[in-house]
Amino acid sequence: MVLRTFDFGESSTIAVALMRDHGKVRLLAKGARKKNSPYLGRLRTGNLVEVVFYYKEHRGLQLLREVSSESFDMPGRSDFERLCIFQAGLEVIDRATIERESDAGQFMALEAFIVGLPSCPDPWAAFFTLEVQLLKRLGFYPDLTGCSRCGRAAAGASLVVDTASGSVTCVSCCGRGDLKLTEETCEILGRMERAGSQAMTDITLDRAMRRRVGTLLHNLFLHHIDGYRLPYALRLLKEDEAQ
Ligand SMILES: [Zn+2]
Repeated sequence: MVLRTFDFGESSTIAVALMRDHGKVRLLAKGARKKNSPYLGRLRTGNLVEVVFYYKEHRGLQLLREVSSESFDMPGRSDFERLCIFQAGLEVIDRATIERESDAGQFMALEAFIVGLPSCPDPWAAFFTLEVQLLKRLGFYPDLTGCSRCGRAAAGASLVVDTASGSVTCVSCCGRGDLKLTEETCEILGRMERAGSQAMTDITLDRAMRRRVGTLLHNLFLHHIDGYRLPYALRLLKEDEAQ
């Protein structure tokens, strides 16, 4: 999966890709910007491709030899929101992935996201499911099943999350916390957590729920990933909505 590309030298391209078996890898496509290059048009952000490359363990850049495209239904250009969310998913994966740390589960979560996104009822739910899966795999996802102090279950209790430490308590115990989660929010997040790498679920979120879930996940990324910021594609979407 091509996460992003950038120009290199006079005519080459570097593609940052997430691979099923090798994790995140930087691939050097020599001469990719030349007119007759076989790589032309194949190394685009969001393309799912099959590659052959020369792997050298201690090299930061791997040399690409062949690329062949696999097709899937990308969100149509007419659906600006879905397209931005698609880009945002790739950005989040890119920022939260350490190079050459292979994790097949992470690739499967991304695959479920890109395959499910064009047809799922709520693209935000698809995006948040990807974020939950990613945080879980990184070990930064808090246990939202109940209070960590008194053990009270999330059902019937409002939970307070301290995003910096990841501690979760109920309102009665009320430890340090910056985010309150209602029972309904916990239920939605639980469904996203259980979705695993299965194809997208039918979860839909109203505006308020979208904000609550989005804020929690964004804060978890902010606290745990150095230099994390809101994906560029989501900032674009915000500007578009404000107009
Ligand atoms: Zn408690």
